[in-house]
Amino acid sequence: MQVEADDIRRAFEEDEFFPAFQPLVELRTGQLTEFEILARWQHKDRGAIFPDAFIPQVEASGLINRLTRTMLDKAFAAAPLLNSGLHLSVNLSPVQLLDPELPAHIVACAERGRFPLDRLTIEVTESALLGELSRAKAVALELKALGCRLALDDFGTGYSSLKHLQALPFDKLKVDRSFVRSMTESRESRKIVAAEVGLGQSLGMMTVAEGVETQAQANMLLWLGCDLGQGWLYGKPAPAEDLPRMIAVAPRTRASMLPAPMDGNSIVSVDSLPAQRLAQLQAVYDGAPVGLCFLDRNLRYVSLNRRLAEMNGAPASAHLGRTVAEVIPRLFPLVERFIRRALRGEPVSGVELQRPPDGGGTQTVMLSYQPVRDEAGEVLGVSVAVMDVSEHRRTEEALHESETHHRHMMQLNPHVPWVLDATGAVTEASPRWEALTGQPMEQALGHGWIRMLHPDDVEPTSQAIRDSLQTGQPIDVQYRVRRRDGEWKWMRSRGSPRFGPSGEIVSIYGVVEEVHDQKQLGEDLQSCRAELQAVLEAVPVGVILADAEDGRVVMVNKQARKLLGDAFVPGQDLAEHGWQGPTDIHGRPQPANENPLSRAIFTGESSGPRMLLYQRADGGVARLSVSGGPIYGEDEQLIGAVMIVWEMAAAESIEPQ
Ligand code: C2E
Ligand code: CA
Ligand code: CA
Repeated sequence: MQVEADDIRRAFEEDEFFPAFQPLVELRTGQLTEFEILARWQHKDRGAIFPDAFIPQVEASGLINRLTRTMLDKAFAAAPLLNSGLHLSVNLSPVQLLDPELPAHIVACAERGRFPLDRLTIEVTESALLGELSRAKAVALELKALGCRLALDDFGTGYSSLKHLQALPFDKLKVDRSFVRSMTESRESRKIVAAEVGLGQSLGMMTVAEGVETQAQANMLLWLGCDLGQGWLYGKPAPAEDLPRMIAVAPRTRASMLPAPMDGNSIVSVDSLPAQRLAQLQAVYDGAPVGLCFLDRNLRYVSLNRRLAEMNGAPASAHLGRTVAEVIPRLFPLVERFIRRALRGEPVSGVELQRPPDGGGTQTVMLSYQPVRDEAGEVLGVSVAVMDVSEHRRTEEALHESETHHRHMMQLNPHVPWVLDATGAVTEASPRWEALTGQPMEQALGHGWIRMLHPDDVEPTSQAIRDSLQTGQPIDVQYRVRRRDGEWKWMRSRGSPRFGPSGEIVSIYGVVEEVHDQKQLGEDLQSCRAELQAVLEAVPVGVILADAEDGRVVMVNKQARKLLGDAFVPGQDLAEHGWQGPTDIHGRPQPANENPLSRAIFTGESSGPRMLLYQRADGGVARLSVSGGPIYGEDEQLIGAVMIVWEMAAAESIEPQ
């Protein structure tokens, strides 16, 4: 559209330009923080004209400073309608940032309108600054010295974003609305938004998402760690008369930390639970003898339970919104890579860690990191579980030395235990090898088992054994095995040498296990319906909940079903059917009602964690850590009980530094 310079001059004379105000809100709380001033032209013949249609012509006619002055004067005149905490931001054309007179113009407006400049943000786009950065920088620094803040507008659409980001002292970064618009559908846009937000944060800038139109976008932005949102969801640009109305709007559009609702097929649907159930879930989360938390993509604590706060030695309030590095600086370097792996979508479990790494304590914890995904499958954050396994480790160490223990495990273990002699020949292996591969035991002994390996894996595996026999170091090797059904299956074999009286290796004891099918877990997580449910279903810890009123099981989470099959099912009356089959570590059977859940529900006592062996449906034996405790409602009366079951996986050990 061709707009004549004369027409623009006339429009100034006849006062046709005025500001519209659009709210910016804090995504986390829904709190209004600021209004952006957007120019409008109410043309006497043509009606409302939008800035994209007239800004270029105003620039060309040399009147752009006059437009800014008009916007600021009118906006400052309306400022008494704002309360004193609210900020304003104004758009400048990039050329204006090259004008050494600019700061003086802005100061003059602020003085006329009695508006403090530390409540003003100047927004510039990145388009035309290249080449003149040193001049722009001088003006920008002068504005900052006056108290103004500087925002980089339309970030991601220009051609030299990073250069500008670095060269000018920006406080804020505004993610362009084109990315926000498509982020809920397009993976690429989502990645761009995530990267921009991450970049802004790592440079210590506030991040703002433009063009937020839906709650789904707002939620996703919050998960990505974005600070502020602006868009039709919170309000369209409106004239000054509307400011009081916009300020009065309650912050009901606040983004939610819950993954967007999905029609899942999970057992617990928090929506459909009566209020008391919800309280139970909250109590489980809080009272579980396992430390639980959820971290967002920026490794900040979004939620955590009481147990974890205790373990970290700081109240929950000292965690929320802060990063893991800030809260546990000494442990962070040890665990960072596991969190990052989970953020890349890979569940990590069975990480064992001594903590505190430099203190006198002997606490051993087992850690697990599970990615949590949104409905589009993107990783939103990590669900973390931390369990104190010091007691188990001590027991285990005591047992470790005993050969009978090894024999015992040999018959019971779901893994395939094996023994090599000093020459590297297999002398004993569990019959499970035959079940798995179809290779008869007598053929597997010696070096025969190698024939079942994938040809590419034979040499690396043999080398790993030779190395171990030579150096005395443990073996840890992965290889593919041809299963009975002809499929290749990845297996992991680990073992450690036993030494004779003069230090020579006599044998190597070890186990083979299937490399855990971790994909499944990640996919299951997508069915999460709400944060609590997400945590309960996603933690690699079995959770079973019973109701005090009728002594029945009300919830069995996924991991509990996986570990215990249908030993516990919703509706089961604990007074009639306890838990059949678990034995203690010496193989002594436990009475059906001597389980921590029944105990807690009928006596109100906490118990465990204890280590139990449990025969699984697949014939294997799981080593479980089991504990339980009562749940009390707000009025201190027993409302239910929880049992936590944790599989003592072979640990992936990390050494304290
Ligand atoms: P901008 O700074 O990126 O402003 C945001 C634009 O997004 C505004 O368009 C606003 O109305 C629009 N918007 C806000 N929320 C939503 C939403 O949820 N969905 C969609 N689809 N759009 C939304 P507007 O008012 O047409 O302004 C266009 C551009 O004109 C602005 O882009 C800004 O760069 C420029 N501009 C506005 N006022 C001035 C001014 O006083 N001086 C200068 N130099 N440029 C200005
Ligand atoms: Ca803007
Ligand atoms: Ca913009």
